[in-house]
Amino acid sequence: MKQYKSKLDLSKYLNTLKINDKTIGFVPTMGALHNGHLSLINKCSKENDITVVSIFVNPTQFNNKNDLINYPRTLAKDLDKIKDYCDIVFIPDENEMYNEPDKRLFDFGNIDKVMEGKHRIGHFNGVAQIVSRLFDIVQPTNAYFGLKDFQQVAIIKNLVQQLDLKTNIISCKILREESGLAMSSRNERLAPKLRENAAIINKVLIESKSKKSELTVSELENWVISKLNKNEFIEIEYFSIVDNTTLENITEWKDNITGCIALHTGNVRLIDNVGY
Ligand code: AMP
Repeated sequence: MKQYKSKLDLSKYLNTLKINDKTIGFVPTMGALHNGHLSLINKCSKENDITVVSIFVNPTQFNNKNDLINYPRTLAKDLDKIKDYCDIVFIPDENEMYNEPDKRLFDFGNIDKVMEGKHRIGHFNGVAQIVSRLFDIVQPTNAYFGLKDFQQVAIIKNLVQQLDLKTNIISCKILREESGLAMSSRNERLAPKLRENAAIINKVLIESKSKKSELTVSELENWVISKLNKNEFIEIEYFSIVDNTTLENITEWKDNITGCIALHTGNVRLIDNVGY
């Protein structure tokens, strides 16, 4: 596995591969890698000639300074985990990615105004800034994103359209712990009792699928919210059933919809989602 810290060196090397028509698969991450990340990297390495992984904790997507400071950084372990699947790892520092401040403001219409966008102001603009910079350097044939961050996938697809990029965006299924809890680096911050308890999130989401035939959309949303809020360790921030493309709240049942949830347990904020 080759390691690059310089964007210029990386793009020079990638250009030599592209001359030989190699397909480049790309998995952007912020490190603290777990099996969810590894499933993306594994899929990428099966579907492309060359797999590039980036590890960079992007400051512009954090709307809370403490979150950025406390974000887990486990580079040595990360490199060890990916060395067998990955050809190239890009580990730039902040200066390398933002030699001057990125002032671009993207217009995503409705899709960055709802759900995560409402609760984490500026988050998706920061995601778009870093992903567009990384795509500029790597110029991937295919880029892999987890559906765990459902809204992020919609944002990235929109970004690629806006910038008229050639990269295919591949969305990858959520990897879960044995209990059903969606894998996340934040799970490590849950006390064992809370981590065990958090299995209820996926259970309730799965159970809600069977209620679709008897409840209206808003009744089902309320059913999920009240069922989970009854749990003494959980406080729901939002649960919305939305159209997969526009992310608008639906009012009548139809196809291609997803229920997205954000909640607090202990002092940890978790997100998850389920397709109906
Ligand atoms: P992050 O390092 O948190 O920015 O995540 C990097 C990529 O891994 C994103 O595309 C995430 O959606 C994806 N990812 C994180 N957790 C999971 C999971 N449990 N299953 C599948 N993909 C995930």
